[in-house]
Amino acid sequence: MGLLTGKRALILGLANERSLAHAIAQKLADEGATLLLTYQGAVLEERVRGLAEPLRAALVLPCDVGQDEEIDRLFTVVGKECGSIDILVHAIAFAGKDALTGAYHNVSRAGFQQALDISVYSFTALARGAAPLMPQGGSMLTLTYYGAEKAVRNYNVMGVAKAALEASVRYLAADLGPQGIRVNAISAGPVKTLSAKGVRDFNSILSVVGEKAPLRRNIDAKEVGGAALFLLSDLAAGITGEVMHVDAGYNIIGF
Ligand code: NAP
Repeated sequence: MGLLTGKRALILGLANERSLAHAIAQKLADEGATLLLTYQGAVLEERVRGLAEPLRAALVLPCDVGQDEEIDRLFTVVGKECGSIDILVHAIAFAGKDALTGAYHNVSRAGFQQALDISVYSFTALARGAAPLMPQGGSMLTLTYYGAEKAVRNYNVMGVAKAALEASVRYLAADLGPQGIRVNAISAGPVKTLSAKGVRDFNSILSVVGEKAPLRRNIDAKEVGGAALFLLSDLAAGITGEVMHVDAGYNIIGF
């Protein structure tokens, strides 16, 4: 018996094998969860289906979180095919490349709205869609970053988005707690993924963390997978509204 045997987990944000969502999916599958995965747009369908096969995912469905109809359709299909789910993982963020370089205050209204829409509102919209499919309670998780707490060079509007995402975790936890649904976030240290490549000078962030973090190294995506397993399983039954750092301890360091 695995920690998640008999549980169904809906995971959004799997682009490739480097995605944090992939490390989480692998860990949840290893512990017996049945996976339901999504892809954004037809171009990525084949790639995600390729990743879904070794993970023995039960469903692979389209969902562009920028489209209300796609979110509605996702939950209609999941409800019809599975009846209920136990876990929701949101591993999605987006900001235009221009917004992730130079000064934060140069962000356009459209760029600001897009970053907040895709990276923050989507979690609230998905939580609203998933909650009715969790009649026995459940667990939700999103991914954030230190740039929510401190001004990190070039992270810019994404830092503002992550701060709002962390606040959303607390509001969602308060809303959904009475239904036995827990909502948490992992604040992951930097990991080289497709999205991370969009942040200018990302390699310097990796170097500074590797040098200054108490563990004197960067984290591995698998460590995010392990922490996600903890938060999503009954091991964390008493934890909700929390932002847990998985960053080799970098966030605790002062001067
Ligand atoms: P990733 O592999 O590029 O994953 C990002 C995912 O977001 C991709 O699957 C992408 O799909 C999806 N996405 C973007 N716009 C979408 C939309 N409109 N609808 C549906 N999906 C959409 O990068 P990652 O680093 O694993 O990112 C996962 C999460 O971890 C993000 O929230 C990120 O901010 C967070 N995080 C990352 C790090 C890091 O250093 N890597 C650190 C802390 C937190 P497409 O490929 O189709 O665009």
